[in-house]
Amino acid sequence: MVLAQLGGTITRAIRQMNNATIVDQKVLNECLNEINRALLNADVRFQLVRDMHNNVKRIVNFDDLAAGHNKRRIIQQAIFNELCNMLDPGKPSFTPQKGKTSVIMFVGLQGSGKTTTCTKYAYYHQRKGWKPALVCADTFRAGAFDQLKQNAIKAKIPFYGSYAESDPVKIAVEGVETFKKENRDLIIVDTSGRHKQEAALFEEMRQVSEATKPDLIVFVMDSSIGQAAFDQALAFKQSVPVGAVIVTKMDGHAKGGGALSAVAATKSPVIFIGTGEHMDEFEVFDVKPFVSRLLG
Ligand code: GDP
Repeated sequence: MVLAQLGGTITRAIRQMNNATIVDQKVLNECLNEINRALLNADVRFQLVRDMHNNVKRIVNFDDLAAGHNKRRIIQQAIFNELCNMLDPGKPSFTPQKGKTSVIMFVGLQGSGKTTTCTKYAYYHQRKGWKPALVCADTFRAGAFDQLKQNAIKAKIPFYGSYAESDPVKIAVEGVETFKKENRDLIIVDTSGRHKQEAALFEEMRQVSEATKPDLIVFVMDSSIGQAAFDQALAFKQSVPVGAVIVTKMDGHAKGGGALSAVAATKSPVIFIGTGEHMDEFEVFDVKPFVSRLLG
C-alpha cells in the first residue's frame, strides 16, 4: 500500500527536522515542503495539502514561541493533529444499535466494491451477534442479484431481491418492510452503481433513499480512484445525504490519498476499510491509530 510509503516519507521529513541543530523557519519549511510533496504524490487534493501547510505554520509561530519551548514536539504534534483533522470531519456518523432496526443504504460507482462491501458489513456485524439482512435494489446490472445472493448464502445472511421486478424502489421498499417485520436489526440496501455519473443513477438513488428512509447512507469508494475522488464523492453527496465512507481495495497499489478527499467532500468519516476480496478482509477505521501507524 502506497500509504505506507507516504507515512515513511513524512516520518523521514520529521526525523530530519529533529536532527537539525536548530529548528528555525527554514528547517520547518523544508520539512513541510517534503510532507506536501509526499501528500500530493499520494493523490491527496491540493487544497487539503495547502490547508494543512498553512495550519501548521499558523500553529508553529516562531515569533510567539518562547525560548525553552520544545519546538520539535510542537511541530510534530501539529503535523499529527493536521493529518487527523484531514480524516476527521468533526462529527461521528450514525451508529446503528444492536437490537434496534436500522436501515443502511450503500451507494457508489460500479466496480467500487459496493456489493462485496455490503456483505462484509453484514458479516462483520453478524459475527458480533447482530441480525443483519441484505436487500438487492440493483436491477440495472445483470447478475447483481446473483452476486449478492451468493455472498449472502455463503455468509448465511437472509437476503431479498427479484429476477423479475425491474423497479429498484419497489424492491427496496418490499425488502426493507419484510426484514422490519422479521425484526432484523441491520437492513442493508445495495443500490446500483454505474460506470459514469449518469443522471439516471442519481435520480434512482434519490428515489430509493426517499422511499426507504435509511438511517445512514454509506458511500463506497475504490481507493485507487485517485484525484477523481473528491468530485465523485461530492456528486454523490449532492444527490443523497451521505453520512459515512467505506474505502475499498486498501490492499492494492492504491495511493490512498483519495480517502482523504472523500472525507473532505462528504464531510463524513471513513468507518471501515476493505483490505481484500474475502468476506473478513474488512477493518474498522479509527483516525488516530491509523495516523499513528502511518507515521510509524
Ligand atoms: P460493485 O460493482 O461496486 O458492487 O463491486 P463488487 O462488489 O462487484 O466488486 C468489484 C471487484 O472488486 C470484485 O472483484 C471484488 O472482489 C473486488 N473487491 C471489493 N472489495 C475489495 C477489496 O477491499 N480488496 C480487493 N482486493 N478487492 C476488492
